[in-house]
Amino acid sequence: MTSVWMGALSWFGAVCFLGLTVGAFAGQRWGLASIAVALLALCLHHLRNLRRLQYWAIEPNGTPVPDAPGVWGEVFSSLNRRTRKAAAVRSELEIRLRRFLDASQAMPDGVVVLNRQNAIEWMNASAEGHFGLDHRKDLGAPIGNLVRQPAFVHYLDSGAYGEPVELRSLRDPRRALSIQIIEFGIDRKLLLSRDISQLHRLETMRRDFVANVSHELKTPLTVVTGFIETLQDTLPELTREEATAYLAMAHDQALRMQRLVEDLLTLSALETDSPPGDERTDVAELIEDLAEEAAALSAGRHHIEVEAAAGAVLLGSARELRSALANLVSNAVRYTPEGGHIRLLWQHGPEGGRFTVEDDGIGIDARDIPRLTERFYRVDRGRSRETGGTGLGLAIVKHVLNRHQASLHIESEPGRGSRFTARFPARRVQRLPDAAQSSPDRNPPPVPEAPPVAG
Ligand code: ADP
Repeated sequence: MTSVWMGALSWFGAVCFLGLTVGAFAGQRWGLASIAVALLALCLHHLRNLRRLQYWAIEPNGTPVPDAPGVWGEVFSSLNRRTRKAAAVRSELEIRLRRFLDASQAMPDGVVVLNRQNAIEWMNASAEGHFGLDHRKDLGAPIGNLVRQPAFVHYLDSGAYGEPVELRSLRDPRRALSIQIIEFGIDRKLLLSRDISQLHRLETMRRDFVANVSHELKTPLTVVTGFIETLQDTLPELTREEATAYLAMAHDQALRMQRLVEDLLTLSALETDSPPGDERTDVAELIEDLAEEAAALSAGRHHIEVEAAAGAVLLGSARELRSALANLVSNAVRYTPEGGHIRLLWQHGPEGGRFTVEDDGIGIDARDIPRLTERFYRVDRGRSRETGGTGLGLAIVKHVLNRHQASLHIESEPGRGSRFTARFPARRVQRLPDAAQSSPDRNPPPVPEAPPVAG
């Protein structure tokens, strides 16, 4: 600012000096004329720079400010500094805005910005998916015209946005959405949508599970209570044999409840325990034990065969692995009628190892196979109960195998038998040096593949 006054003062001094000098040498008239010419030149100089400034002002952002000497030069360079600073601020804001929009786009929740008339100002990709919208044609359209579900329209019009509402997704009606409107700024609204299908599924599973457990416990409890009441009421009249029979039946039911509770605790532990370590289990020894257990359970009613390639060690939780494989073996005994054949097989190679249990028992219908690992799923409820089943065995097997990065494969045909195969990855199977060198024909013949059981 000071330099503007200094500049004006020096121009004024120069013009006066010129006028006085010319007046002194050539007379007063020429002095005044030279002052007038100098003032005119000064005016033209300022007008020219003013016009350059005006042209610059209508040029696009980022056009360099013109150069000029003297005061105008200073004006132009301060303008230059100011525009450079403004440009830097603008680009910083643009970057922040882009980052904010990118983050909003990446959100799994849907976000729609509505104006005073509830018309869409902005939306992210999730909102497009949830509400079946398209940002290329729906921006500016009132949301009430596009999402016409009565529950939504009522919520939008109600003005009471304290609680969210639940809707079905317009694009995929199997998905459940939780919708909430939040008012902000001046008459603006934020419409948020969240996919809660998974929560719904979990809630349904939880309800089914509680209902199943209650149902499974209720029957034996009723039986036990009934026997106790009978004994209380009629004990003096009962013979010793009758009383013993009642007690034996009550004991059976109590054992059934105990098995159920143990299986439930096992499942819960499998879900919460830390991943299994790398304990070593000698496979040949394990299979021998399993065959002995099967023989004890069968009590001579089945032909049990073992074909296990020696020299392999399974790495994982010894207790979990034993319980999972024992489950497959005991199922084979329980679901194979007297006189049937059961075969336990172990094979291993560079790609991992496979434990297979084959039986020629009652078999399973193809449509039941994918559901066998669901909790409490049984093909024949009566037979499962008769043989002491809880309906949780294969769910436990699946969990244990998953925890060991292994998979369960089931092949079966009603009336012809079943084959359950647990496939372990190479990192869970250690081949002992002797076995690695042993001839491959010590291994049993390969078992054909079945796809893993989902669930
Ligand atoms: P359960 O305690 O009822 O045996 P599981 O989870 O072990 O429960 O098995 C689920 C169902 O799978 C069983 O009820 C039975 O119907 C069927 N199943 C399992 N193994 C066999 C098998 N080897 N042969 C025929 N059916 C089987």
